[in-house]
This record gives sequence, C-alpha cells and structure tokens, in this order.
Amino acid sequence: MIKRFRRLPWWGKGIVGVVGAGLTVLCGFVGLSVYSQTQSNSVPHIRRWFNDRDARAELITYEACEDAPFILPTPGFIGLLWNDPAGPYTIFRRHSGIDIFGDGEPGTIPVRAVYAGYLTRQSNWVSAVIIRHDDPLQEGRIIWTYYTHMASGNGESYIPDRFPPGTENVFVKQGDIIGYQGQYNGPNIRPIGLHLHFSIVLSERDGSFKNETDASNTLDPSPYFGLTVNIDDRPERPIRCES
Ligand SMILES: [Zn+2]
Repeated sequence: MIKRFRRLPWWGKGIVGVVGAGLTVLCGFVGLSVYSQTQSNSVPHIRRWFNDRDARAELITYEACEDAPFILPTPGFIGLLWNDPAGPYTIFRRHSGIDIFGDGEPGTIPVRAVYAGYLTRQSNWVSAVIIRHDDPLQEGRIIWTYYTHMASGNGESYIPDRFPPGTENVFVKQGDIIGYQGQYNGPNIRPIGLHLHFSIVLSERDGSFKNETDASNTLDPSPYFGLTVNIDDRPERPIRCES
C-alpha cells in the first residue's frame, strides 16, 4: 500500500491528502455529535414534537410548580434544557436557557414576565427583552430573565407596543404579557421552529447583565420553577411538577 501510494502522481497525493483531511474533520463532527447526544436525552423528544403532531398535547408543560417563585413564561414542550449540549446550534457550546416550543401559530402564544421586575429592550433588539429582578432565591443578588425569538421569521416583532426598541427599566408585574412566541433567528435563515428561548442571566459587578450566550453566565432555572430543567438530571418528558 505504501509503495503504491508513493507511486501516485503529485495530484493523486493531493487528492488523497484532501480526502484524508475531510474524513478526519467529518469523524470529528460525527464524534462530537454522538458525544453530545450521549450527554443529552433531548433529541428524540424534539424530533417527536416536530414529526408527530398528535404527540404534542402530552409533551406540553403548562405551569411551574405552585410554590415556585417564577411562573412559566409560556406554555409548551420544554425541548432543549439548561446546559444541554444537544440541538442544532449547540454542538460546540452548552445551552444557556430552556427552549419552550408552543403548539400554535407564530404571534399567538403569549409570553409573560416570570416575576416582577424592570424591563429593558435595547434599540437593536427585534425579538428580545430582558427583565431585571431582585433574586427571590438569594437575597441581595440582582438577576435578569431573558426572552427571545419573539418575532416572525422575517423580523416582524411580536413584542407589544408598550415596549418599543430603546425601552429601559419599565416596571412589569409577574404575568404581564411581554410578547408572543415566534421564529425569528436574526439574519440567520436557518429555520428554528416556533419557540421561546428563556434564560436567567447573572449580573456584572456594575449591575448590568452578563453575556447571555455563555452558559456559565446563566443560572439553572430548575429551582425558580420547581421543575427539573437541568440536562445533567436527564429528566423524563414531559417535564411536569411532581410535588
Ligand atoms: Zn434556546
């Protein structure tokens, strides 16, 4: 084999090299993907949600637990969990929040403030808001709850007129409608499916919110809802209050 390889013309060696490199990269991707799926049990459920409409009713979570400080922001199938390595966009990073997939048309399923606080929508935020709260589980700490994908695929916002871009520190009560589930994924044209991405974000020293896309800047939402939404616990689906 080695002799034969040596006899290959220069362009032949080039092709062998390129194919070899390609295979190495491909194996890397497949390996990473397989690894991700062993760390997560979310993918079969997400497939089922999108491929079997009849299964949807039994996958939906409607409420958080009664004694929990937060209400659930929106009803739906809690598909991708906190710290989840699975999913089309999280192979190289953990998921910073939970994805709640609603059963309905874009722009019709309400999203509510999980807890009272002060809402901000930065001037370039088409589909997102963030709310500042006094942490109900750790006295003296400021936390933020972040809600996104609340616009149509082409960027028609589903956030009420009450919160235009540039909104800062507007008080909202627990349960106030702050938007509707959508499919907006920025200029990225890959479809993401109708859902709300929700996360709990830590503060910087100056009280501003940390970078939400990094899971290490976020908190496990489980104790705030009384629901098991941490992928490390591999919860059964649907996720429901057990108490
Ligand atoms: Zn998400």
